[in-house]
Amino acid sequence: MNILNYELLELENIVTDAGFPKFRAKQIFTWASKGVSDVSEMKNVPAEVFKKTGLEVGLPKIINLQVSKLDGTRKYLYELSDGKTIESVFMRYKFGNSICVSSQAGCRMGCKFCASGLLGLDRNLTSGEIYGQILAAERDTGERISHIVVMGTGEPFDNYDNLSGFIRTVNDKNGLNIGMRNITVSTCGIVPMIDRFAEDFTQVNLAISLHNSTDEERSELMPVNRSYSIDVLIEACRRYTEKTSRRVTFEYTLVRGKNDDEKHAENLARLLKGILCHVNLIPLNTVDETGYSASSKQTASAFRETLEKRGIPATVRRELGDDIDAACGQLRLNSKR
Ligand code: SAH
Repeated sequence: MNILNYELLELENIVTDAGFPKFRAKQIFTWASKGVSDVSEMKNVPAEVFKKTGLEVGLPKIINLQVSKLDGTRKYLYELSDGKTIESVFMRYKFGNSICVSSQAGCRMGCKFCASGLLGLDRNLTSGEIYGQILAAERDTGERISHIVVMGTGEPFDNYDNLSGFIRTVNDKNGLNIGMRNITVSTCGIVPMIDRFAEDFTQVNLAISLHNSTDEERSELMPVNRSYSIDVLIEACRRYTEKTSRRVTFEYTLVRGKNDDEKHAENLARLLKGILCHVNLIPLNTVDETGYSASSKQTASAFRETLEKRGIPATVRRELGDDIDAACGQLRLNSKR
């Protein structure tokens, strides 16, 4: 009965079914959003409510924290109630604080360059376990978080229902009240869920991990491409932009000698022509086991220029937390090695 797993409406049902007035649910929901770690901290709610409903607070436990000396980026390794571990990264930007949260313990997509894919999927996270990553980081830093990216371990569209509950909960004005436009969900390209997402969440940002523009090469890096090929994926992105009028972000991790030459850039520009989009070029974070290495800075900026010249807006992602293994499941991997 973890309070964090319930949307306000669901809490109202639980509370009224147990014979208490509806407003108790709103009190509990709001207290939970302030990051209290125990129901005894919910001062204006009688203990009886918790006794009768069994509601309690289940925040993830911080078992490792790395803080970047360069930019203050904080990387959390959390332990869940069943001992599984997950990661989140807290980042400070000029526009506010942002957090990158995990949607699953592990991942079954198997992308070849990714540390999380190496270990396979343990299980889906509940909506409360996704939400809890934010609350625990706010509690630890004493700072508010205004932006969320669902770009940590896991494939969010492989855990769609819990992802949806999470988004509605953090958006609720009685709780964190984080605007839909401040939330970004990143997917490796599970096409039916892109269409569903465009129906359900017209204001949430969508990022697609593309990483290559030909089927043969993309399938080699990302097995999901064998189920949903590039043409099918791009068509879904087009439908998304038409339905939502929102720009899609394409993530493209530059892997040395694999997807980073002039020909790849030209082909990518051809593929994305006419789509309302932006390309985010990401320097690969080296994961020892994978055997891949990052492209040089020069290669990255040449790639960007080729895209821009062909009318595709592109940026090379600034790296935060470079000194703390901040990216892509590396802390979790190291803790299991
Ligand atoms: N499963 C979702 C979200 C999690 S991965 C997705 O695929 O989008 C978040 C992003 O990190 C993806 O773009 C992923 O391809 C990228 N990524 C994974 N491992 C990486 C690595 N070693 N270096 C750089 N980016 C990586």
